[in-house]
Amino acid sequence: MSLLRNISLLWRLYAGFVVVTLLFALVLSIQIGNQIEKNNLSDIEESLRVRGELMAKHYEDGFYGLPHAELQRNIVQLGEKTGTRITLIEGDGTVIADSHKNPAVMDNHIDRPEIQQSITDSAGRAARFSDTIEENMLYFARHLSGSADTGGAGFVRVSVPTDDIDNKVAVFQQQVYIGVSISLLISLLLGFYISKRFSSPIEEMTVRADAIAKGDYSQRIKTEYRGEIGKLARAFDHMAGSAEKRFQQLISDRNKLATILSGMVEGVIAIDHDDNIIHMNEAAARMLAVSSTLSIGKSFWQVVTNPEIHSVLDGIASDKGGVKHKQINIPGRINDAVVDVYAASIDVARQDKGAVLVLHDVSELYRLERVRRDFVVNASHELKTPITAIRGVIETIIDDEEMEAEVQREFLSRIQSQTERLSSIVTDLMALSRLESGERENQQRLTLNAIIAQSVKAFQAVAVDQKIDLRADIPEQHVRILGDPQSIGQLFDNLIDNAIKYNQPGGCVCVKLTCDDTQTEISIEDNGKGIREQDITRIFERFYRVDKGRSRELGGTGLGLAIVKHIVESHEGTIAVQSEYGSGTTFTIVLPLA
Ligand code: ADP
Repeated sequence: MSLLRNISLLWRLYAGFVVVTLLFALVLSIQIGNQIEKNNLSDIEESLRVRGELMAKHYEDGFYGLPHAELQRNIVQLGEKTGTRITLIEGDGTVIADSHKNPAVMDNHIDRPEIQQSITDSAGRAARFSDTIEENMLYFARHLSGSADTGGAGFVRVSVPTDDIDNKVAVFQQQVYIGVSISLLISLLLGFYISKRFSSPIEEMTVRADAIAKGDYSQRIKTEYRGEIGKLARAFDHMAGSAEKRFQQLISDRNKLATILSGMVEGVIAIDHDDNIIHMNEAAARMLAVSSTLSIGKSFWQVVTNPEIHSVLDGIASDKGGVKHKQINIPGRINDAVVDVYAASIDVARQDKGAVLVLHDVSELYRLERVRRDFVVNASHELKTPITAIRGVIETIIDDEEMEAEVQREFLSRIQSQTERLSSIVTDLMALSRLESGERENQQRLTLNAIIAQSVKAFQAVAVDQKIDLRADIPEQHVRILGDPQSIGQLFDNLIDNAIKYNQPGGCVCVKLTCDDTQTEISIEDNGKGIREQDITRIFERFYRVDKGRSRELGGTGLGLAIVKHIVESHEGTIAVQSEYGSGTTFTIVLPLA
């Protein structure tokens, strides 16, 4: 397409030049040709006239009385010498001598146009085909008035064949045409060269301007052009250079802004005056569960369906200036997210007002606050329950002085179990507080194989009692980590204890140890009751129990998994849970190798 346009520019220029040059050459050659013909003809006519006049002068007194044979001889000689046909005619039109023909066989010439004209005008001229010598001729006739001595009038006629003139003119014209054709060819070649020189910078500029329009700002024009075109080329290059710089600056600014916005934890949405989204960063898209790329350019109302956010936007529309703030809930698949929304109006493009919304997800803060509150309530409650039970039993024993020893023992054993409960809660709380304080434990190189085998062995009796098949899949090769043996032991004890506790008779628990070059993975898998999805995120919270009654009944404090999580994290490891309600649970721990 661009090639066609380029060609057409050159050819359009050149075609105009060709048309003008051809017309000029045509007019010029016709004009010169005509002029040559005219000049030649008038030269010949003039020389013919002079010859005629000389002949007329010679025979001024007429040729009567002169012997015809002598006349004929003279005329033939004269005709040969002058290259002219000479005819002597008597006043009645009888030809008496002719340089090119025998006068005896010639017609009467009185009615010849040149003779007729010479009778009236003393000289006559005609151009026509001669029947006598069968050629186109130019005639000049002179009337001889004669004198009283010599007798009547007569005519002298001189003529030359016009074919010679035509040939001469044709040769001249041919030379002119050749000359014009050569100049035409030269000027056409020169014209092509000039057109090309003129059109190629423009074509080049067009091609480069096209490329710039498509985003290739590196385009530059050859600097060799001179004059106005050179100035234009330099101006073009300057313009392309500054456009490139500005564009690079814009790109860099845009990239910086995009990097800042995409790296932000806060969600940012910018909308224009028509409520179309002009920017949405990933954080905002994540919070609103939409796609940022698909949302850009669409109406905010169409993309964001949460009515609470709309009310914040409505607020800034009705209120002039200022920042609006509202805390909203965004329903999630598992938990609702709590988001602080800040909205402010902005100038998008001079007069066009738009708005920017900043979304700050405060769900984690909320969760921690709730965990803290729950912890206080739960800890007081957990401690209060056994204390109340102990107090109640003690009051009963004190009040009933005559209580039977058997009953008293029964009450004392209740006090003992509640005290044990209190003790395990306090022990767990102290362990947790020790872990949370970040106190460096007794770090040493441990062999996990032995610790896991020991925990599995310790729970084997309980497992058998509960009719649960407890298995360990431990490799021969020693897996070593850096850690506190007591904490690591507690970690596996808690997980194996839970896997047995929240299982059912006939179930199984499998503890598996694997490792690669850098880390080890320990999984504790059971096919027990499993954990609901909404509870999975909360089981590591302190005192969180899915089924409080059952946990307590089983001697659980609700602190086991919180301790586990702390131990794993303090050993720079990770813990993950995979569970399907009704089918079983797998806890997977990854720890770095020593
Ligand atoms: P608890 O002392 O009640 O066992 P944990 O912190 O150890 O407290 O566990 C928290 C809750 O997680 C438990 O109440 C229980 O509902 C659930 N849980 C833990 N491990 C399992 C498991 N292997 N299978 C099913 N539920 C489990």
